Amino acid sequence: MKRRNFLTLVGTSIVAAPVWASVYSNNNATGQKAIDSIFPELPFAYNALEPTIDAKTMEIHYTKHHKAYHTNFLAAIKDTPAANLELKELFAGISKFPAPVRNNGGGYYNHMLFWENLSPVKSAPSVTLNAAIEKSFGSMDKFKEEFANAAKKQFGSGWAWLVARPDGQVFVSSTPNQDNPLMDVVEKKGTPLLCIDVWEHAYYLHYQNRRAEYVDNFWNVVNWETVNKRFDSR
Ligand code: MN
Repeated sequence: MKRRNFLTLVGTSIVAAPVWASVYSNNNATGQKAIDSIFPELPFAYNALEPTIDAKTMEIHYTKHHKAYHTNFLAAIKDTPAANLELKELFAGISKFPAPVRNNGGGYYNHMLFWENLSPVKSAPSVTLNAAIEKSFGSMDKFKEEFANAAKKQFGSGWAWLVARPDGQVFVSSTPNQDNPLMDVVEKKGTPLLCIDVWEHAYYLHYQNRRAEYVDNFWNVVNWETVNKRFDSR
């Protein structure tokens, strides 16, 4: 289908998949060198996820926080052995690199995953992902409860994750700071399928201290199409 027709069909440009989406969402890591990491376009407008995530938070989160992680990541790996590794390789050996590489590399990458698994358009888990979730958690509701608990109970800044093992088994985890399940420093490793940022900068303007409310509302803006793709290409 031509792009023009696609836009006409959906009636709005905010759901148009940008070029980078196919690079990152399908396989969770790039085939390109870390030093070539781009700062991708946000796949929706700042106000697209309101009221769940307000426009001001989105704008600051993307243009200041995410942008800074990208800039600082490139600075941290410049002229070092990390520059020529693929992100996936870098994360798999992240314990061998200085903290700025781990923190900014994770911050750069985790936010791309996060933007991609958010959308104002309603979607649903695929049959295969649904089956994997029911097998691991008993039901979709039980999964959501466990994921939300991981997000709410992560002490201080960090992330909660739905993660897949190569055999298709899925589990929930949380990580501190900007760590992610691809990193060798993380106890429960695997392919990230879905993540939520629980740093205060992700919700404080709108929710203040009410992280639980932010987490509960998160389900309104999950882009299951992305999660399904990540599961299929794990
Ligand atoms: Mn963040």
